[in-house]
Amino acid sequence: MPVRAERPYTPEEEQAVRQARAATGTAECPRCALPMREKAIGGGSFGLGYARRRTWLLCPSCRNSVIFDAERGTRT
Ligand SMILES: [Zn+2]
Repeated sequence: MPVRAERPYTPEEEQAVRQARAATGTAECPRCALPMREKAIGGGSFGLGYARRRTWLLCPSCRNSVIFDAERGTRT
């Protein structure tokens, strides 16, 4: 599990990260203005094809993180 952020994002900040990620494919921390690291979160059953694709966006500085649920569909 990630280190718990001392000052978690507000819902507005989290939403901004999600929108940026959805719109541009990348996101940066609204507080630190640093690119957020991405980690794919596996559901453990990708072989079935129904695993939900999730991306974990993590700021390396303030250690806040946002779970981004990919929508259905396969954009490349
Ligand atoms: Zn940050």
